[in-house]
Amino acid sequence: MPTKVHSHSHAEIAARLDTAERLCARRGSRLTPLRRLVLETLLRHHGSLKAYELLDALRAAQPGAAPPTVYRALDFLTEQGLIHRLDAINAWSACTDAGGQPHDVLVVCTRCGSVAELSDPDLGRRLAACVAQAGYALNGQETELRALCPRCRQA
Ligand SMILES: [Zn+2]
Ligand SMILES: [Zn+2]
Repeated sequence: MPTKVHSHSHAEIAARLDTAERLCARRGSRLTPLRRLVLETLLRHHGSLKAYELLDALRAAQPGAAPPTVYRALDFLTEQGLIHRLDAINAWSACTDAGGQPHDVLVVCTRCGSVAELSDPDLGRRLAACVAQAGYALNGQETELRALCPRCRQA
């Protein structure tokens, strides 16, 4: 498994944290210091992090971070659309454009955990219609696809 590299510049991370603060304030919710730290940790890592990787990274910055509090912060950030929960690999990734269009399709590399976020409302509607024909209703608006990223395909 390739090591995870810090791919976002300091300015990019600061800008995304500002966007997150703004979105939370507009919705009447609060980006507490821990929620902010969890989001920042995910933003700093290219791709996605599993729970234990996230806890390890968090403990470097905040030694007392307890798993239940961190899981609650992850739930909050997911509800706010600031991060994506990736069931395919049991991990989380920071949303690359939380202030923009919702991401309907998440393409997840099952090998390295990198994520491509796609917006295709039309595809989302067609999927919802197919699911409705079977008598079901989608719980979430995001569809996850398991894939291999360009780098892992070469390896
Ligand atoms: Zn996203
Ligand atoms: Zn990959």
